[in-house]
Amino acid sequence: MARSGLSAKLPLPDRERLRQIFGWLAPGQSLISGQALWGNARFTVDEFLQLQHLTAPYCDQCALPFDRLEDAGQICAACAAEHPGWSKARSAFVYDDTTSQMVLGLKRSGKRAGLRVLGRYMTDAAREILDTADVLIPVPVHYRRLAVRGFNQAGWLAEAISDQTGIPVHHQLLARVKATPSQGHLTSRQRRKNVAGAFRLTEKGRNKLTARRLVLVDDVYTTGATLNACARALHKAKPANLDVVTLARVVAPRNPLI
Ligand SMILES: [Zn+2]
Repeated sequence: MARSGLSAKLPLPDRERLRQIFGWLAPGQSLISGQALWGNARFTVDEFLQLQHLTAPYCDQCALPFDRLEDAGQICAACAAEHPGWSKARSAFVYDDTTSQMVLGLKRSGKRAGLRVLGRYMTDAAREILDTADVLIPVPVHYRRLAVRGFNQAGWLAEAISDQTGIPVHHQLLARVKATPSQGHLTSRQRRKNVAGAFRLTEKGRNKLTARRLVLVDDVYTTGATLNACARALHKAKPANLDVVTLARVVAPRNPLI
């Protein structure tokens, strides 16, 4: 029997139109300042103009920006010396005073409202990686922190990318087995020591990730210490490839407040 009335599933164009109408009627909120905004807007005009998108030219392996266009596609000196545990890392934004507010809002307040927008920016920045990826793996938080905070913002960002691309997210294949203190004021070397052995491939991960093309997802790429510790654990599954996507990347020698 045919379904009718409100219980009938609306065709996609109508659902999209309804979503837009709701967006026009319901006030939104800036992802940066928290200021009330109308419709689907997530930034004021001034905030939008302040956003620093991380665009080429940059190091092909870690996305550290280069000054000269002709260096695009090359590897930076740090990557040549230290060989990060991934093939390519891409980030949507430069981590600065503007994007730090966005990250802190996501991390401390658990604001999910703008994830759709953030997922779109991350997907656009990492298109070349995501086009051939099999699995998204969020950087996990320790179970005790998860119990207190109630969510993992890296998991939310991975799901937002999945909504854009259809690539599945696996939350249970990589575990954080060591509760590490905040890294906000640590040097690069101290960070490496802090996260050494903090991540472990789960038994399920050992079987599921072999020969797959993995993408590790996090909110901020700071020194790469956490991402490298995750990569070391993931490589035990012998994946076909491992790449990294983050919302923002620190490009100046400063300690972000995370
Ligand atoms: Zn590099």
